[in-house]
Amino acid sequence: MDTDLRSYSTFKIGGSAFSICKLKSDEDIVHAHRFATDYNKPLIIIGEGSNSIFGETNGHYVIGHMHIRGITAKSKGDKVLITVGAGESWDGLISQTVDQGLTGIEALSWIPGTVGAAPVQNIGAYGSEIADTLVSVRAFDRTTERFTVLSAQECQFSYRDSIFKQRPHRYVITHITLALTHAAPPIPQYKAVQERFMGTKPIVAQIRSAIIEIRQSKLPDVRALPNCGSFFKNPVVTREQLRAIQKDHPAMPFFEIDTQSVKLYAGWLIEHIDYASCESENIRLYEKNKLVLTNHGGATFQELERVISCLTNTVARTFGVTLEVEPNIYR
Ligand code: FAD
Ligand code: NAP
Repeated sequence: MDTDLRSYSTFKIGGSAFSICKLKSDEDIVHAHRFATDYNKPLIIIGEGSNSIFGETNGHYVIGHMHIRGITAKSKGDKVLITVGAGESWDGLISQTVDQGLTGIEALSWIPGTVGAAPVQNIGAYGSEIADTLVSVRAFDRTTERFTVLSAQECQFSYRDSIFKQRPHRYVITHITLALTHAAPPIPQYKAVQERFMGTKPIVAQIRSAIIEIRQSKLPDVRALPNCGSFFKNPVVTREQLRAIQKDHPAMPFFEIDTQSVKLYAGWLIEHIDYASCESENIRLYEKNKLVLTNHGGATFQELERVISCLTNTVARTFGVTLEVEPNIYR
C-alpha cells in the first residue's frame, strides 16, 4: 500500500508513514490500535485529509484510513434519526438527506471530508454546526480499549472544537447519529445566502444548491489546487480588546458572540497586513479568500511553517491578536 503521506492530505505535503491500515470494521480498528501500540507509533485516523497536514518525517506514523460505510434511518416522534458510518462522504450524506426533504445539515453542504471527521472540529458554516443536530457518537476508546457511545454533551462541542480535537489520540469514531426533521428550513443569516432568498420560503434542496453555488464561486477545488480550507480560526476577543483595536482600525468588522466577547474575521486581519511578503514560492493565499493557504506544487513543510509564522507574527504585531491554526498538523 502507498505510504506517501501526501496522498492522505489535501494540502499534499508530507513524508512517508510507517504503515497504512484500512479501517472497514470494528475488528480493523482494534487491530490497528494494537499494531500501533506494539510498535510504539502514534496512530492517526484519516478520512479524506482535508483538515490534516503532515511534516516530512519518515516511518513515524501508523495511519488508520477510515472506510466504515452505511447509512440507516429511523423515525422518532417528529425527528428522523440517521446513523452513519464514519467513512461515508459528508457531502454525499447531505445529498441523500436533502433528497428525502430532511432539514438540519443543509447549510453544511459542500464541506469536503468524511462523516467521522465532522464532529472532530464540530464543522461549521453559515451559522450552523454539526453540534446543532448531533445526538451521539460511537467510538473506540483507546484508553479503555472498548467501544463506547458519547452523547452530544460528552463531545464537549464549542467553536470548531470538541473532545476529539482536544484528545487527538484517544477516540476512533465509527458512527455518528444525527436528528433531522421535515420542518421548513431556516435561511442562514449570512449575507450571501440571504440575498438569494429575500422574501421567499425556499425548500431545503434550494438552500443546499445556493450554498454549493456560493462555495464553488469562492473556494478552490482541492483536486485542482491543494489546500485545507480556512487556515486560521476566527479569533474571539473581549470587548475591551475590540475597543483597543478599533482605535487604529475603526472599519474592522466584528460579530457579536455574547455580552463579553466578539468574533473577529481572521480573513480581514490577514487582508490588512502585508500578506504578500509572507507568501513563498509555492505557498500563496487564495486570491478570492485570504484565509485559505494553497500549495501551488512542491511546497515543503518548512516552507509552510515559515508562511504560518510570518502571518501569525505580523497579525499579532499589527492588531495584538493571536491567530490559531485550524487544520491538524502532524509534525
Ligand atoms: P481529515 O483531515 O482526514 O481528519 C481531520 C481530523 O479528524 C484529524 O485530526 C483526524 O485524525 C481526525 N479524524 C478523522 N476521522 C476520524 C475518525 N473517524 N475518528 C477519529 N478522528 C478522526 N471545515 C469546516 O468546519 N467548515 C467549512 O466550511 C469547511 N470548508 C472547507 C473547504 C475546503 C475547500 C476545505 C479543503 C476544507 C474545509 N473544511 C471546513 C475543513 C474540513 O473539510 C473539515 O474539517 C472536514 O470535516 C475534514 O474531513 P476529513 O475526512 O477530510 O478529515
Ligand atoms: P463569509 O460569508 O464571507 O463571511 C466572512 C466571515 O465573517 C466568516 O468567517 C464568518 O464567520 C463571518 N460572518 C459573516 N456573516 C456572519 C454573521 N451573520 N454572523 C456571524 N459571523 C458572520 O465567509 P466565507 O469565507 O464565504 O465562508 C462561508 C462560511 O463557510 C463561513 O461560515 C465559513 O466559516 C465557512 N467556511 C469554512 C472553511 C473552513 O475550512 N473552516 C472554509 C470555507 C468556508 P464564521 O467563519 O464563524 O462562520
